Amino acid sequence: NADIAMYRAKELGRANVQFYTEEMSAAALRRLHIENGLRRGLARGEFRLHYQPKYQIDDNRLLGMEALLRWNHPEEGLLLPGEFISVAEETGIIVELGEWVIRTACEQFKAWQQKGRSVPSLAINLSTRQCRNDGLVEFIGSVLARHQLEPAAIQLEFTEVSLMNQMAQIGDCLEALHGLGVKIAIDDFGSGCSSLTDLKRFPIDIIKVDSSFVHGLPGSSEDQAIVRAIVGLARGLGLDLVAEGVETPDQAAELQKLGCHQGQGHYWHRPAESEQLFRQQRA
Ligand code: C2E
Ligand code: MG
Ligand code: MG
Ligand code: MG
Repeated sequence: NADIAMYRAKELGRANVQFYTEEMSAAALRRLHIENGLRRGLARGEFRLHYQPKYQIDDNRLLGMEALLRWNHPEEGLLLPGEFISVAEETGIIVELGEWVIRTACEQFKAWQQKGRSVPSLAINLSTRQCRNDGLVEFIGSVLARHQLEPAAIQLEFTEVSLMNQMAQIGDCLEALHGLGVKIAIDDFGSGCSSLTDLKRFPIDIIKVDSSFVHGLPGSSEDQAIVRAIVGLARGLGLDLVAEGVETPDQAAELQKLGCHQGQGHYWHRPAESEQLFRQQRA
């Protein structure tokens, strides 16, 4: 009966709408929970930095450390950036949180030097949102000066996707950062389809090959072709190249063969607290 079918469809429609809004409000609540927690967490010292080493593939020489943010949430345990960075960006809290990251990572870098640990470089992830804050360049300059850190040893990583959406707005910021003497890296390269013109126009020093292209190595001929193309691009433009997400010895060997000589990933080390990394360090 048509009437009944119509009625059912309406009921179903209503049910769907209800379901949808319930899901939405659960997400909105979650977001609010994270947002409020971020400020409190910052004030209460709930954030931590883990570090992941970067290696020269052929001789496993340590090239540097990348700081990765962790949130030791009082109710939810250890949270990864994927669960809170976007909220921090949307609310602007990333400015303050990012300053904490920069300050803490640089203090750690200095401490490694003072303990005679040979860590040649420090990489810090930044959101482009931090570039919209006028004080960023000055802040980084003052932290480097305070700890007497060599600017060229500092690498600031921006994801390709975030850069390519906003090159026009943040080009000046990148230039100013570069003017401090620090290096600029494009993270997750290949996932965002940047224009080659942007690579030429902006002061980029380092390309990090997205882990999705490392994943299929050594077997996938598509991934081989993509990595080979990125290697050619980096060589031609005089940029350093690092592969991310290297998990197996075969992937490392294939990268080396394709001309990518630096890597990072679980094959060498998972991100960990500084003490743990140095306790585990191979002799
Ligand atoms: P990213 O900078 O590309 O960092 C690499 C991510 O891959 C990290 O995830 C790391 O734990 C993970 N990873 C490393 N090696 C392997 C591997 O061999 N296999 C697999 N499957 N994964 C691996 P994490 O720590 O969850 O960070 C995710 C992203 O969050 C980072 O990606 C970075 O874009 C962002 N992020 C991290 N810390 C900060 C920060 O302090 N500020 C900002 N703005 N973003 C940050
Ligand atoms: Mg990174
Ligand atoms: Mg990455
Ligand atoms: Mg990495």
